[in-house]
Amino acid sequence: TADISTLSEKTLSSILEKNRGYYTQGKVADYIPELGKMDARAIAFSVVDKNGKILNTGDVHKKFTMQSISKIIALMIAVNEKGEANVFDKMGYFGSEKPFNHFSNLETTGKPLNPMMNAGAILTTSLISGEGEKPFLKVLDMVRYITKNPGIDYSKSVYESEKATGHRNRGMFYLMKNNGLISGNEDQLDNYFKQCSIELTAEDLAKIGYFFANQCVRFDGDSQYKNADIAKLIESQMLTAGMYEFSGEYSRMVGLPSKSGVGGGITVSVPGKMGIGVFSPALDQHGNSLAGYHMILDLVKQYSLSIF
Ligand code: GLU
Repeated sequence: TADISTLSEKTLSSILEKNRGYYTQGKVADYIPELGKMDARAIAFSVVDKNGKILNTGDVHKKFTMQSISKIIALMIAVNEKGEANVFDKMGYFGSEKPFNHFSNLETTGKPLNPMMNAGAILTTSLISGEGEKPFLKVLDMVRYITKNPGIDYSKSVYESEKATGHRNRGMFYLMKNNGLISGNEDQLDNYFKQCSIELTAEDLAKIGYFFANQCVRFDGDSQYKNADIAKLIESQMLTAGMYEFSGEYSRMVGLPSKSGVGGGITVSVPGKMGIGVFSPALDQHGNSLAGYHMILDLVKQYSLSIF
């Protein structure tokens, strides 16, 4: 095992080159027409180390939509506002072998399995207080704060595309409304579509990973949101359900709290240490970035980063 203090951009770059070819075995998400336009060859790898130092390699300026990764930010805000007990009274802490857009368990127990699959995430966003677009703006502001990147915004075209084609998500929204979990109107679903459409880079994802790895302290040391307990909750959900139905096997292989999105990004928290952000839009059958997964796996093996 190498000593983590020896990690350099050169190391990241050699891991990236080793795994660059994986994009040919994956598939860019096309369930939203606008996402299908992503360049399958784009690839980026970033780390924020223990001291907050940023290491980057690949297409580090390439922006992509954060998609499901936004779910951990929404969860943090909802729990900050409502308290964990009130949020998890409405959904479970379960893992799942079902895909991200499955209706479990809305037809049986009536409640979503967890806040990482779409149903629970749509519900989580609806629990953030404020009229109209306000809950979304809170998510956007938090992403800007964590990354210290005020230029971050959402892609209107991806948002429009999500809204126009997201009938399954709309179905979940109304089923949860029927079940008495959601009381608002479709603005709340639009907020979910908007948060999925926030555009950022692999470096931004590494900063998000760092934030949750370090008790919600930002990479530059700003501690205005410091909260060890919320970080623990988010990390435990990432470990249990952050990689969709691949989460169990991923925990065995990588052993780190991680959250992926169908835009091709994955954010990883190395508890107490660092944050990792990867991007490559070609996905495996579960919706996880294929080259991204392999870059993480190589880094974790080289430096023995698994928490187990
Ligand atoms: N916007 C996507 C959806 O709700 C997010 C899915 C994902 O990244 O898993 O279908």
